Amino acid sequence: MTITYFSTRGGETGLSFTDILLGGLAKDGGLYLPESWPDFSPEDFRALAGAPYSDVAYQVIAPFIGDDIPHSDLKKIIDKVYADNFSHAAVAPLVQIGPASFILELFHGPTIAFKDYALQLLGALFDYVLEQRGERVTIIGATSGDTGSAAIEACKSCKNIDIFILHPHGRTSDIQRRQMTSVIAPNVHNIALEGTFDDCQDLVKAMFNDAPFRDEMNLSAVNSINWARIMAQIVYYITSGLSLGAPDRPVAFAVPTGNFGNVFAAYAAAQMGLPIDKLIIGSNRNDILTRFFDSGEMKTGSVEPSLSPSMDIQISSNFERYLCDLLGRDTDALKTLMEKFKETGAFDVGENIMAQACNDFTAYKCDDEKTLAMMRECYEATGYSIDPHTAVGLYAGWKAREEGAISDLSIPLIALACAHPAKFPDAVQKAIGTHPALPAHLSDLESRDEKYDVLENNLQTIQTYIKERAPK
Ligand SMILES: *Cc1c(COP(=O)(O)O)cnc(C)c1O
Repeated sequence: MTITYFSTRGGETGLSFTDILLGGLAKDGGLYLPESWPDFSPEDFRALAGAPYSDVAYQVIAPFIGDDIPHSDLKKIIDKVYADNFSHAAVAPLVQIGPASFILELFHGPTIAFKDYALQLLGALFDYVLEQRGERVTIIGATSGDTGSAAIEACKSCKNIDIFILHPHGRTSDIQRRQMTSVIAPNVHNIALEGTFDDCQDLVKAMFNDAPFRDEMNLSAVNSINWARIMAQIVYYITSGLSLGAPDRPVAFAVPTGNFGNVFAAYAAAQMGLPIDKLIIGSNRNDILTRFFDSGEMKTGSVEPSLSPSMDIQISSNFERYLCDLLGRDTDALKTLMEKFKETGAFDVGENIMAQACNDFTAYKCDDEKTLAMMRECYEATGYSIDPHTAVGLYAGWKAREEGAISDLSIPLIALACAHPAKFPDAVQKAIGTHPALPAHLSDLESRDEKYDVLENNLQTIQTYIKERAPK
């Protein structure tokens, strides 16, 4: 079977999976999408119900890869990733917290947040394709805390990848820093920058814009716009949906959202045939998406810090993928809107398009106060403690049910737990008065050796550091 990919802005078409895997962002600034969605019949889904996570993952992912990777190799890669690196036998287990209310735990990977589910596979796929091509890449990235550790964990055992992650020195939490700096491997390099997160990001951008350096180092990124991350995230929507009766009854998902990556994977699952009654978006005080679904206008604002920092974002990059579908894949129309957005910080869409968008999604904002209240309410009602991101999603899910946005009370609501509460101990302490314990595989984190270098905020210094350490 062949599958091809195109750029949402129309500049590239007919690409294969491995073409888009290493590239990430399309050359015209767009994002890659498959030209058509793989189609699963109810029988196909029924045949997967109850199967191990990695078997479902293989069936869901193989159609997106086509013949680019031999199927037996792909199966081995997927089996290894989800068997070796996740600490729960179900990989993404469900926990019931109320009548027809469930939590999908996505924190059983190495860094106890959902990004592991995609990044672990992405690292393995990168390494496989690089090996085939006899190539090597240098991954660079900036982190305010969370994505850095997930990327490092994904790349630490890769033979053909060197990874350099910049974090702002002294400005990440202890847990966040240790999750990165305690990974001691010859291809992992932690740079503690004397500066802010924005300084880290600016340096990374400057290195990508320095063409000779970019080419010499074969720079690459594993950021959230990579299609393979979305693809890997589709899997847990399908496993959880099947566990609760799909395809023979619909389910609803509540997803805390920043960059729109995770919830776009849910939309993709629906396009593939999973019966989803409603996709519910939760945003924190940085509510660009909620405002869009209320008003039909997408308009950026300034980013404000919140209790759910992984969603402190004012541009939801992956929304472009959904918008492309909403516009009937009219890439010219999409390009015009995105150019307008870049110039003016805003765009709006017409009534017909909004009607479709509001049919697919419903969105609620949950500020810090409501987040703490939700964490407390969930704990008091069930004894189950949730992290602040999970609380934002759950708040939106319960609000949607209360307001009748889910068509039937018997439809299972699945709220995604995107991080383990121990990843955000201060917020948990504030909400419920207890300090959450780290899971077993991280319990000795505080006493592990750390390795990182403190460097000054200077492009030349960083580039020299990378050149000296990345083998060519
Ligand atoms: C990244 C992240 C999110 C937001 O996910 P998007 O795919 O960017 O919408 C939510 N919660 C946690 C814990 C995260 O790490």
